[in-house]
Amino acid sequence: MTDATEVINVLSVDVEGFIEANLQSFHIDRKYVDGAKENYEIETNINLLLELLSDLEIEATFFFLGRIARDMPHIVKEVAQAGHEIGCHSYEHLRLFDMDKAAFKERLIAAKYGLEDVSGKRVYGFRAPDFSVTQASIWTLDILRESGILYDSSIYPIALHDVYGISEAKPFIHELPNGLIEFPLSTVEILGKRFPFGGGGYFRLYPLFVTKRCISKINRFGQSCMLYIHPYEVGPIIPTIPELSWYRKFRHYHNCKRGDGRLRQILPAFKFAPAIEVLKQKDLLEDN
Ligand SMILES: [Zn+2]
Repeated sequence: MTDATEVINVLSVDVEGFIEANLQSFHIDRKYVDGAKENYEIETNINLLLELLSDLEIEATFFFLGRIARDMPHIVKEVAQAGHEIGCHSYEHLRLFDMDKAAFKERLIAAKYGLEDVSGKRVYGFRAPDFSVTQASIWTLDILRESGILYDSSIYPIALHDVYGISEAKPFIHELPNGLIEFPLSTVEILGKRFPFGGGGYFRLYPLFVTKRCISKINRFGQSCMLYIHPYEVGPIIPTIPELSWYRKFRHYHNCKRGDGRLRQILPAFKFAPAIEVLKQKDLLEDN
């Protein structure tokens, strides 16, 4: 067993608005689709998140949609200047398994170059919208590699979700046959079954002590956790859609208003660095 307190984890942020993130998940009436409001929501929430990370002295990895580099370049610049890693979350929030190869590559390159241009930093990592690298879209990993991406963090090694997951995927950092590094979303094994715990709804719905125990358990094995959050889960702004079913409301809104406080209770107990630093430290990537 490793000294768990020495293991460095990654806090990642998928930067998108609440409405654009969920357009493929459930029906949202057009009256709620408003680009200007969405950008205001992102900017307000990111500012609170940057304050929180600065207070806790944590550098994170921000996976930005390419369209944010186009629409709000100052936000990407601000995040980069605060010392955080800039990663790519595709161009718009569209699931990859519905896309053809040419369309995916075109969006990836546009997003990567756009983010590099406005941040002044190289983009090494990729996170697919809705973790949509599955068996049906496994071809995306070769396009990532040939487009200059060094690591992917899109695979959820679980079987139990309705949209994403590859049940037989390895649960920890590993090199793929094409040379790309995979840094999967964190899961914990209980009675032979893998359960997700490290972000989004799981992070909001599990009691704090459960999340802390899961991180400690993975760290005791000498493995780094990949955690993730969205700006609207930290607050203060999340758009409300009164028509949603009680199930959707619970799944998408529960504990969103308290995300800030929950992070302040969990994060100080562990070590964090941007994903690229963790991979370099493990000698998985050249320092270039
Ligand atoms: Zn996303």
